[in-house]
Amino acid sequence: MRALLLDQPRQPLRVAEVPRPRPSPTQLLLQVGACGVCRTDLHVVDGELTDPKLPLVPGHEIVGTVVEKGEQVQRFAIGQRVGVPWLGWTCGTCPYCRSGRENLCDNARFTGYQLDGGYAELTLADERYVFALPETYSDAEAAPLLCAGLIGYRSLVLAGTGRRLGLYGFGAAAHILAQVARYQGREVYAFTRPGDIDAQQLALDLGAVWAGNSDQTPPVELEAAILFAPVGSLVPLALRAVAKGGVVVCAGIHMSDIPSFPYHLLWGERIVRSVANLTRRDGEEFLALAPQVPVRTVVERFPLAEANEALERLRSGRIRGAAVLLPGNAHAAAVQA
Ligand SMILES: [Zn+2]
Ligand SMILES: [Zn+2]
Repeated sequence: MRALLLDQPRQPLRVAEVPRPRPSPTQLLLQVGACGVCRTDLHVVDGELTDPKLPLVPGHEIVGTVVEKGEQVQRFAIGQRVGVPWLGWTCGTCPYCRSGRENLCDNARFTGYQLDGGYAELTLADERYVFALPETYSDAEAAPLLCAGLIGYRSLVLAGTGRRLGLYGFGAAAHILAQVARYQGREVYAFTRPGDIDAQQLALDLGAVWAGNSDQTPPVELEAAILFAPVGSLVPLALRAVAKGGVVVCAGIHMSDIPSFPYHLLWGERIVRSVANLTRRDGEEFLALAPQVPVRTVVERFPLAEANEALERLRSGRIRGAAVLLPGNAHAAAVQA
């Protein structure tokens, strides 16, 4: 089957023919219909996340159809469509797993990082960590729900219930979360790279009450802010924008250094916190909520072989909404292999 391989960090991905994967007893073999391109993929490819398996098939927003399954698989049937997220496996025995915080598992393995992911015609996934998907979304539309959507959703929950919400970086995650926040009766204030009129317009189209540059002061004090852009210098700016008791959530897995800032920005019981990974419960909750809103995803589609181009456009901020790879001849490959 055809896959995109990362041989070494800071090199372009390479198109390769690799053996058809074989499912272990608890795994599904999936024919990939679509795979989202996440900023975390960039951090892996660029070597900012330092522990990938190599060579690696990236991609952790996978929509696939079950074409084969291990003998212990019980939850899913051949032909069923499922979604594969970033959290690919946890140990179940460490203190984090045993206290309902599997997102912090000491021994976790992540899809498209320690496990081969979805930049391929076929991929494997452990049935215990995949989700059934709402019928109302096409494969390409569903893909961004699986990381941008559900880790975004975890960030929103951890941001608290404040009504005036700032979103810094208006890409894949924020364009989904803005819709959820509005459905919950919140006001969304969208902050983009200075001068990114397209992203600001998208935010306004999706119901934001205000959109501006990340260095601007919003017209009102915010109660919470979520940082999707991996830019540490946004932390003091967001703290400046939130009211006393406000929460600033850093939603990305990697961020440039946070510059020092005066204590008075934190004073008044303001909180800065990170969000790490997801639990399966986050995924179930969000995938039940998304069709109720209903969340509409804005996607730019790319053939599998153009993954490097999609990554480059994400890096330079030239994706509207979310980028999604479509592994074209997947069905033929599955049948022939
Ligand atoms: Zn664990
Ligand atoms: Zn992701």
